[in-house]
Amino acid sequence: MLDLPVYLDNNATTPCDPRVVEAMLPYFTSVFGNAASRHHSFGWKAEEAVDLARQQVASLIGAEPQEIVFTSGATEADNLAIKGVFEMYAGKGNHIIATAVEHKAVLDTCNHIEKLGGEVTYVGVDKNGRVNLRELEAAIRPETILIAVMYANNETGTVMPVKEVSGIARKHKVLFFTDAAQAVGKIPVNVQQDGVDLLSLSAHKMYGPKGVGALYVRRRDPRVRLTAQMDGGGHERGFRSGTLNVPGIVGLGKAAELCAVEMNDETTRLRRLRDKLRGALLQIEESVLNGDSGHVLPHVANISFNYVEGKMLMIDFNKELAVSSGSACTSASLEPSYVLKAQGIPDEQAHSSFRFALGRFTTEAEIDFAIEKVTQTVQKLRETSEIWKMYRKGMDMSQIW
Ligand SMILES: *Cc1c(COP(=O)(O)O)cnc(C)c1O
Repeated sequence: MLDLPVYLDNNATTPCDPRVVEAMLPYFTSVFGNAASRHHSFGWKAEEAVDLARQQVASLIGAEPQEIVFTSGATEADNLAIKGVFEMYAGKGNHIIATAVEHKAVLDTCNHIEKLGGEVTYVGVDKNGRVNLRELEAAIRPETILIAVMYANNETGTVMPVKEVSGIARKHKVLFFTDAAQAVGKIPVNVQQDGVDLLSLSAHKMYGPKGVGALYVRRRDPRVRLTAQMDGGGHERGFRSGTLNVPGIVGLGKAAELCAVEMNDETTRLRRLRDKLRGALLQIEESVLNGDSGHVLPHVANISFNYVEGKMLMIDFNKELAVSSGSACTSASLEPSYVLKAQGIPDEQAHSSFRFALGRFTTEAEIDFAIEKVTQTVQKLRETSEIWKMYRKGMDMSQIW
């Protein structure tokens, strides 16, 4: 028997890998030192553990250990990157470019920058959610100090043309920051090959613990400087004060190590399962893929089921299927997903969209269950749907929706 509900919301958070928990445990009790205590072995042991984690994280993304700044997660890393650059480079300019589909941690930070007198240009995406490169380059001005383009989108899984973006940024000598919370540990990310200057990541999106993440800050070609957003003891080379979360950092390090070792096999396994799910769900009449079918994370599919109310589907999934919807009905806001809207997807299609995000612990039996559950539920709801009947009678639906 399957354990219900089936969890297909791994873009929201992943379970901690038991091997990560195992690695963390001693750092709560026997090895509890403060990594900043320089005068005794308690501190040294904690510092040693943090040093190893720094190497593990750096190695996963092709960085130097000194370029890793530990934070409380990707939200904090996003804030530090954007606000830190805005303050530090005030002498050069006050203009930032970001895509319209960034995570709220980036968009809301940009909003804050605008309130401080900065200027932000939001660049559009194509129908698959990939940033419009011509629009991006045209937005660059002499005062532009930062370009923010996420590595992969959390709602659709669409992977951005990161190398092309960095090429443009380098050509115009503008710093390039990428929120890679969804990409790191899932697909190969390399700050050298990708030409990234700042990159944020989060442990709980890659089978590590919640409440810990990191910001990569380039040290050479160019050396990136930042104004710290947290003042205090000068930890993390002055970029982020505060006693280090040693168990969390150890967990992030272990999670990074596991991802590096297992990424190839995991990608092969998850891509096959995702393709099976995506293929089967796209067999359902009037279902559409939201996002790019090729440039997409291997474990993600975002699909709309037209002429079905997303809210009703969600209610029926309840207790058996944990997924996320782009429908406003299931979230605090009234607007449907701004990410799908930016792709030019009509509100109604966004309202009936679902994000299926597989993970390390997803089994084939769970995927088979999900296929059956979704197919049956969509059919059942359509049987009683007036709108579906009108569509089947061949009425002009653009007049109705
Ligand atoms: C989850 C996520 C974040 C926020 O990360 P936290 O560690 O939870 O703060 C930021 N950006 C993206 C793209 C995410 O998916």
